[in-house]
Amino acid sequence: MQCFVFFGIQGSGKGTQAELLSENLNYQHINIGDLFREQVLRQTDLGLQVQDIISRGELVPDSLVFEIVDSSLLPERQGIVFDGFPRTLVQAEYLVEHFQVRQVFFLELAEAVAIRRISSRRICNSCGENYNLESDPPRQDDVCDKCGGELVIRNDDKPEAISRRLTEFYEQTLALKEFFASRDLLSEIDASQDVEEVAAAIRKAIGSLLN
Ligand code: AMP
Repeated sequence: MQCFVFFGIQGSGKGTQAELLSENLNYQHINIGDLFREQVLRQTDLGLQVQDIISRGELVPDSLVFEIVDSSLLPERQGIVFDGFPRTLVQAEYLVEHFQVRQVFFLELAEAVAIRRISSRRICNSCGENYNLESDPPRQDDVCDKCGGELVIRNDDKPEAISRRLTEFYEQTLALKEFFASRDLLSEIDASQDVEEVAAAIRKAIGSLLN
C-alpha cells in the first residue's frame, strides 16, 4: 500500500496539508493525534490508557500507535497520507516494513512561529473538529461549525505540555529527517508560507512521482 508522510514541529500545518493532499489523491488521511483524541472522547480502553500521556504532552508507546494505525486502515483505500506518524525511529522502521513510502514531507518552521500558531488553535470539546482562530476560524466565536459544541484549547496545547511536546519532537522525531534522507525519500518544505503556497510546493515535489 502506497503512502505519503507528513512530519514537522507542532503547529507546522501538517494536518492541513495532509488533508489537502489526501483529498487531491483520494487517499485515506490518517491523523494519529485525532484518532487518539477520539478514543479519549469515547473513553474506550485505549482512550483511558493514553489520556494522561497525551495531556502531559508525552509520546504514546509505539505498540499502542501500531495498534491504532492497523485498526484505522480502510479496506477500500487507494493509498494513505500519514500525519503525525511516524514520530520515532522504531515507528519509521515499522512504516517502511509495512507500507510503500512514496515521499516524506518535512514541514520546516521556526519554533517561535510554531508556538504562535499553536496558541491560536482550538478544538471542539464534543466532536473533536480542529480550528485555528487566524487561518481557519469558526463562523461564530467559540462555537463549532459542525456540531455547535464549545471550542476549547487542547489540554496538550497548554504551555507545560507544549514544552514537553517540543522536547519530544527534538529528541525523537527530528532524527527521522536523516532516516528518510538516507533512503532518498525526504522533501523539505518551507512551512512559514501561507497554506496555498505550501500546498503548491508539495504538489510540485510530487508532480514527477504522480505523472
Ligand atoms: P498531534 O495532534 O499530532 O499533536 O498528537 C497529539 C498527541 O497524540 C501527541 O502529543 C502524542 O501524545 C500522541 N501521538 C500522536 N501521534 C503519535 C505517534 N506517532 N507516536 C506517539 N504518540 C503520538
